[in-house]
Amino acid sequence: MILDYHMHLEADDHGERCRFTPERIRLYAEHARVQGAREIGISEHCNRFAEFRPVMEDVLSQAEGEELEAWYRLSFRESLDAYVEAVLRAKAEGLPVKLSIEVDYIPGKEKVTREILARYPFDYVIGSVHFIGTWGIDVSPEIGWPEADVDRAYQEYFRLLEQAARSGLFDILAHPDLVKKFGHRPSYPLDELYDAVARAAKESGAAAEISSAGLYKPVGELYPAPGLLERFFDRGVPVTLGSDAHAPEHAGRGLHRAAKAAAEAGYRTVTRFDGRRPTQVELG
Ligand SMILES: [Zn+2]
Ligand SMILES: [Zn+2]
Repeated sequence: MILDYHMHLEADDHGERCRFTPERIRLYAEHARVQGAREIGISEHCNRFAEFRPVMEDVLSQAEGEELEAWYRLSFRESLDAYVEAVLRAKAEGLPVKLSIEVDYIPGKEKVTREILARYPFDYVIGSVHFIGTWGIDVSPEIGWPEADVDRAYQEYFRLLEQAARSGLFDILAHPDLVKKFGHRPSYPLDELYDAVARAAKESGAAAEISSAGLYKPVGELYPAPGLLERFFDRGVPVTLGSDAHAPEHAGRGLHRAAKAAAEAGYRTVTRFDGRRPTQVELG
């Protein structure tokens, strides 16, 4: 089975109000099905929702760069209740859709994050590291990267991802080597950092996402790199598949390549979730 467990109902520019409707979810399900994905999960970004202001306010209010200032202005405008209700309605109409959310891991905000998440019937929660401190690493190669120490950025990114896994807040770790998005590479081998993340994921029971989104970014590769995926396999960490689509026509895009990478790494199954309980289903 091929699943697409990571997608957004709106583009990242927050240019207009979100369209959280079953009709829009149906479009994503249809496009995903054409690409072979029989089940989808909607995973809107947490900063869209007023409820997540206590988690994201500090980071977004201080984040640098025009794009992030715009994000900040347009964040916290939606209601998590309305979002959840739209996905549940789509489910009730028989669409093969799961209710999820993509949540930033912000150190120090674990407790409030846990409290918000506990109030909703999510099928699974995706955890992401998009920020090192107040630096949004995946926004633009012009933000933070020109002055960055790339070696250090990699270390900090993977340390945060390891902490995210250990927090126990998340069922899935998203795009597990996002730090490579614009093609920056460290001067040292990544084996130790990879292994620390894989160990933390195993110990916390989180699955790792194989994301096709990186194929369409400057780096031009799946997240994670083969070396990290092998490490996940060796440690016994299960996987999910996700396109990270931000438009219906991108749902399911590239997932056959993600599934192929999983098989090449040794995986025979992918993870499905229902009410935050994982089960393994045969890949393919
Ligand atoms: Zn993300
Ligand atoms: Zn995403």
